[in-house]
Amino acid sequence: MSALPDTTPSCGTSLDVLSRWHDGDVADPVLDRHIQGCAECRASLYDLGSTGTAVAGMSGVPYAAARVTETTARQGRRDMADFVHELALACLALRGNGRASPDPAPAAEPRDFAAVAADIRSLDRRLRELGVRLELAELPPAEPSPAQALDAARGALSALGKLEGASERQRRALAAADATRASQQS
Ligand SMILES: [Zn+2]
Repeated sequence: MSALPDTTPSCGTSLDVLSRWHDGDVADPVLDRHIQGCAECRASLYDLGSTGTAVAGMSGVPYAAARVTETTARQGRRDMADFVHELALACLALRGNGRASPDPAPAAEPRDFAAVAADIRSLDRRLRELGVRLELAELPPAEPSPAQALDAARGALSALGKLEGASERQRRALAAADATRASQQS
């Protein structure tokens, strides 16, 4: 059964269960919620999705497989938006005084640029295998210098807007970029 990914998620969800969920054979709200919060399960599902045709042919339920592949693609888009948002924050952090943020309680320190960029590349590759191409041309191609960091952040935030539309987190990050720029000009 070559459709199964190589790695079993360490959260304890079996590949067999994931495969049946992928086929649309498992209706379990608890599992739905777990998968939404579990990056490892989703990574396995992207692998399953990239072989969706084989899975559909095998199970005899092409509609279910197509539907679930669509769901996986939608989830992938949300995951990508999270990564792109984090990339924008990583760019702001590179600016040095990026802490002059109007946000009183940033959720978490962003990881560094290289780590986030690697996740974006990996997810983009998996989504392309599913036939999903996201518009990422505005992302900075490489880690920006401190002088380029604000423009890089703005590019990432523009890409974020294309992925999820105008959002509160996009607005806040743009405001942080504006505040940083203002504080540098004064
Ligand atoms: Zn899991």
